[in-house]
Amino acid sequence: MPHYRAELHVHTVLSACAGIEMIPPIIIETVQKLGINLIAITDHNSGANAKSVMDAAKGTGVSVLPGMELETAEEVHALCLFDTLEQLQCLQNIVDTHLPPMQNNEDFFGSQLIVDKHGNFLVKEDRMLLTSTSISIQKACELVTEMGGLFIPAHVNREANGLFSHLGTIPPDLSTDIFEISRHITRETAFARYPELKNFHVIQNGDVHYLDGFLGAVELDLQTFSVKAIADYIAQNY
Ligand SMILES: [Zn+2]
Ligand SMILES: [Zn+2]
Repeated sequence: MPHYRAELHVHTVLSACAGIEMIPPIIIETVQKLGINLIAITDHNSGANAKSVMDAAKGTGVSVLPGMELETAEEVHALCLFDTLEQLQCLQNIVDTHLPPMQNNEDFFGSQLIVDKHGNFLVKEDRMLLTSTSISIQKACELVTEMGGLFIPAHVNREANGLFSHLGTIPPDLSTDIFEISRHITRETAFARYPELKNFHVIQNGDVHYLDGFLGAVELDLQTFSVKAIADYIAQNY
C-alpha cells in the first residue's frame, strides 16, 4: 500500500506572510529532500497558486492537493482541501464574494504574488487576503463538505485565528471531526489543555511559511488516493 509522509498546510508567495522563496519549484525540491511526498497548498483565502505547484510536482513523485486556508467570519482559520482544482474554484467563487473590498497594504503585510510553475511572477493580488470572510465556520464546513472537500480547523490551539481562542469550544453543530494543532505544542499538552479534542482526530502540520517549516508529521497508508481516503485514514489512526 503506498505510504505518504504529508504536510497538509503549506503557504506560497501568495500569502503575504510567507517567504519570497515559497515558489513551486523550490517547495517541491525541498519536500523531496525531506522525504515528504504529499503536500496541500493552503494560501489565505485563495487557491490561485495551487495549479502552479501541482504542475511543478508532475513527474516528481510528490502529490499536491489543491486547497486554501479560509478565514471564517469568526476569524478562525480552517484548511479546505480538495481533490480537484474545479472543486477549489467553486469555493473560490464563494470566498471572492465574501471578502471585504479592502486593498492589501503591501508595505505592512508584504506582497501577494501569483506565479507560474517555474516561480515566475504572473500577477500581483491587490485584494487583502489576510482577513476574515463573512462566511461562518459552520457554513464554511458545510460548503466544503458538500463540495467533496475536507474541512480541518487549523492550529486550533493558537491565540491568533485558532478555534479555541475565538470560540471557546468546538461548536456542537460543526460537521467535521479532524482538527489541526500547531507545531508549537505536543499532542499531550493539547489534549491536557483542550480535553474535548480527545473526542476527535488530531493532526499536526507545520503551517509552512518558510522552507524550514516542514514537519511531515502526518503519515498515511492509502489504498486509493483521495481526500476521502485521507480523511478515513486519519479517522482510523489519529
Ligand atoms: Zn492560519
Ligand atoms: Zn497557515
